[in-house]
Amino acid sequence: MITELKILHRDIELIWKEMEANKPYEACGVLIGTTDGNLAIVENTLVITNVKRTKRSFELDPKEFYDAWNMAEKNGKEIIGIYHTHPVSCAVPSTWDRETMENAPSIWLIAGSDGIRAYIWENGIKIVKLQEY
Ligand SMILES: [Zn+2]
Repeated sequence: MITELKILHRDIELIWKEMEANKPYEACGVLIGTTDGNLAIVENTLVITNVKRTKRSFELDPKEFYDAWNMAEKNGKEIIGIYHTHPVSCAVPSTWDRETMENAPSIWLIAGSDGIRAYIWENGIKIVKLQEY
């Protein structure tokens, strides 16, 4: 199970910028990189259109997601997680997030009004330690 996530300072900045730009709607995207045991390293963060465009949930544009997946694959990387923003609430999984996470067992990075946190579903929601590099 992944317990630690490394992400570039540049990518964190990108996510904050996306949060501001899409307010009051949620913004979303994918985290591309590699995993090694308990550690996941994000090497690239890609913005994906939120086709739902609501304040309380999001849905990654399927075509853009497919393209991102293909690009990652081509470069020998994988999609290790997704990010989304909570422009009007804390960086804690919502009820909708929890239900969706259970069926999408990758890293969930959430940027909210009180900061940025990462989670993973493993018989319940576990916190993933975040480290900028
Ligand atoms: Zn959410």
